[in-house]
Amino acid sequence: MEGFAEASLGRLFVVRLPHGGDLLESIKGFAVERGVEAGVLWVIGAVRKASISFYDQAEKSYVKQSFEEPMEILACTGNIGRLKGETLVHAHITLAKRNGETVGGHLEEGTTIFSAEMFLLELKNVALNREYDETTGLNLFRL
Ligand code: ZN
Repeated sequence: MEGFAEASLGRLFVVRLPHGGDLLESIKGFAVERGVEAGVLWVIGAVRKASISFYDQAEKSYVKQSFEEPMEILACTGNIGRLKGETLVHAHITLAKRNGETVGGHLEEGTTIFSAEMFLLELKNVALNREYDETTGLNLFRL
């Protein structure tokens, strides 16, 4: 076991995210507005376009990809933590094209909401602070 924390459950928000908004920014904006410092989230809906990335483990860098077409959000799951005192939303998304093919990856800014329903569960009595990890090159939870 690498490390863990035990949290208790806080508020559960059911949110209709704004049409035309940026998905990642809207999630972050809601969390900041409501004072959610730690949490877990799920979103389904549809996007007008999407920007996602893949983490190249050898290069230790994110490779971005954009899709300029409407797609369904089959699943978008993630968490809310803190990095250097700021709220950080880490989310992954699976999207379906019209023909049913799927693409997915790490959710980036530049994903435009057509419609999006989010369930956001706040976690209490836990600090989900991230710090740089040399081994992976990622900002991981300090647990
Ligand atoms: Zn990621």
